[in-house]
Amino acid sequence: MDQAIVNPKINMESAVHEAQTVQNEETEERKAFRRKRVKRIKLFLIILLILFILIPNLFCAFLLYKMNQMNKNIDSLKEEIKLSQEEIERRTKQSGSALDTDENTKDSDTQLYELEQQHLTDEEKYPGMQLVYLTFDDGPSKYTDEILDILSEHEVKATFFTIGKEGYDDQYKRIVAEGHTLGMHSFSHKYSSIYASLDAFAEDVSSIASFLEERTGIRPTYYRFPGGSSNKVSKVPAQDMIHYLSENGYVYYDWNVSSEDAASAMKEANVIVKNVVNGVGNKTTAVVLMHDAASKRSTVEALPIIIETLQKKGNVVFLPITEGTKQIYHVKEKETGQTQDAEETVETEEIEETE
Ligand SMILES: [Zn+2]
Repeated sequence: MDQAIVNPKINMESAVHEAQTVQNEETEERKAFRRKRVKRIKLFLIILLILFILIPNLFCAFLLYKMNQMNKNIDSLKEEIKLSQEEIERRTKQSGSALDTDENTKDSDTQLYELEQQHLTDEEKYPGMQLVYLTFDDGPSKYTDEILDILSEHEVKATFFTIGKEGYDDQYKRIVAEGHTLGMHSFSHKYSSIYASLDAFAEDVSSIASFLEERTGIRPTYYRFPGGSSNKVSKVPAQDMIHYLSENGYVYYDWNVSSEDAASAMKEANVIVKNVVNGVGNKTTAVVLMHDAASKRSTVEALPIIIETLQKKGNVVFLPITEGTKQIYHVKEKETGQTQDAEETVETEEIEETE
């Protein structure tokens, strides 16, 4: 019985021991499995890290490569452009004498044509037409707005050779804004001071140029001598003044048609019309002298009739003086400094001081 009691105890202990052994073995296995997992995760993380470092670097390298290629492309394009420009310059230089050469020059011919278009004279722009340049000296005046209204109604552009006057800022601005040419006719219009010396003349020119630029924002280019370039009042030789204008980038215009509205007694409007229409005659370029002054009411009356009469001829175009306008002068600029009268016989502006 005792043995029977002892034996089961022993059996139980060995069973427990056995169970523990099994359990230990299982734990070992699980540990090994976990270690393997941890190793795998570590490996995965390391690969991930390498990829994170590697991919952007590869991408950067790729971008650098691309950039390098693009730079090369840009360089070769620059080179091509440079060669094209050189070719264009070469062809433009040649084309003056090469209008009759082979078809390869077609491109340069087109380019030359475009260049010429920009520098065409008015006579070239309007072949077969009579070009009439209405010019108004001595303004602004109380009639400036009325003259501008008449020009606007008839869609005609003209040139105003103005002097320096306070209180007419709107008129100076309006002349420019409405597409007319704002020229200079001296600042003071006082012959005795303007023509006293070359310095006095130069000072007066620069005064009117600055005065007009301050009011309109545009530096004027065109000048008309009070009394014309051939006036007999000036103590300074005309060539000296012409040389000064030319040196300073100014271009002077006299006239080849006079309305004769400067005469001291006011001319009838119909006389002014007749003078202008007859004066224009068959001239290809007619620069018409008129006045914008408080004493010249009949000029304002004559203006619409002049425009309408000339427009009826059908081949007349009214233009403002610009760089394409043929220069009309009484005294020509000479390199030698010798005064020479122009061939055309013209009347000079009546010598008078308007102020
Ligand atoms: Zn004048």
